[in-house]
Amino acid sequence: MQLRYTYRFYPDRGQRAALARLFGCVRVVFNDALARQKPLKASNKLLGSPKKRVAEGPYQRVPKNPDLSRELITRAKQTPEREWLGQVSAVPLQQVLRDLDKAWAAHEDSKTGKRQGPKVGAPRFKSRRDRTQSARFTANARWKITDAGKLSLPRIGEVKVNWSRELPSAPSSVTVIKDAADRYFASFVVETNASEVLPETTPEVGIDLGLSHFAVLSDGTKVANPRFLRRAERKLKKAQRALSRKTKGSNNRNKARLKVARVHMRVADARKDFHHQLSTTIIRENQAVYVEDLCVKGLGRSRLAKSVHDAGWSAFVHMLEYKATRYGRFFAKVDRFLASSQTCSQCWAVDGPKPLHVRQWTCTACETLHDRDVNASRIVLAAGRADRENACGGTVRPAA
Ligand SMILES: [Zn+2]
Repeated sequence: MQLRYTYRFYPDRGQRAALARLFGCVRVVFNDALARQKPLKASNKLLGSPKKRVAEGPYQRVPKNPDLSRELITRAKQTPEREWLGQVSAVPLQQVLRDLDKAWAAHEDSKTGKRQGPKVGAPRFKSRRDRTQSARFTANARWKITDAGKLSLPRIGEVKVNWSRELPSAPSSVTVIKDAADRYFASFVVETNASEVLPETTPEVGIDLGLSHFAVLSDGTKVANPRFLRRAERKLKKAQRALSRKTKGSNNRNKARLKVARVHMRVADARKDFHHQLSTTIIRENQAVYVEDLCVKGLGRSRLAKSVHDAGWSAFVHMLEYKATRYGRFFAKVDRFLASSQTCSQCWAVDGPKPLHVRQWTCTACETLHDRDVNASRIVLAAGRADRENACGGTVRPAA
């Protein structure tokens, strides 16, 4: 399977300028192409940031890529307005046209229902003020990792990379990214190999994700919710207040903006580390993993939105899923309409809904004392197993 391996790198002053130029050129080519495909309202053409511009009428995805590339890159370089496109490697410019094409395809498939999941909007103009900027080099761009362990990028030079872990195989492409906290990352696409499949084991686990605990496992393990954002809230408020007092466009405002971005980044990094560690442990220790299919979107609009977002369940579930594939484990989501807090995991008697403060209850049918969350994770495990057997032609899920 294909995976991304991301490393931080540290460009020097000249390289930072070259990268800024590259990001700028990529953005201009993207916007030029989008403007071609998305007719602008005449009245909006002169208005502020390009994002505020509104499209009018149906867009046209013509001319197609090769023509567009010839017109917006090759020929444009010969005009005085776009002459500077010649200062950067042409590969990322061609790649961004491909990205735009994919964005249109995703939007269309989403509209026609061919693509599942949340609605995908039409591509939007990129701005100089976007939070992250990126450019992708494919194999034919002549980038390489030097013998000295530096990353050599065409027209940028050799940059120092922090190789925090080993690349499992030779990467096919590299995306360079600058994030809102002004950090630089190189993200490689690599093909993982079959040798990573772990030796088979017997335990299977059901997971109940929640807010009082981040996760409760069917073996009774409870993983506390670290609440990273909540813990950083005071620091964040202070940084945001400082930012709001600075004059727009000033140097100090930019510094304050960076400070806010850094607090956010630290929270995101801590959360990601936590997700990685927990998901790796669970996948290593279990042959099959079942998780309740959460409706995170619905919860995200509720009163608990901030906490739900802070927990980051979907990112965690996604990690479980790809690590299961990678290490040869079984992963499945089970129906979220399971009445996991109303059903006894011992005898499957349905006991009626219980208010959230009820943490323990005794089954009226078989008199087992249940911890609410552990019981829920056991229901998830049982339902997951039943679904799996059912799919293999075995017994059907017990009537709940
Ligand atoms: Zn019971």
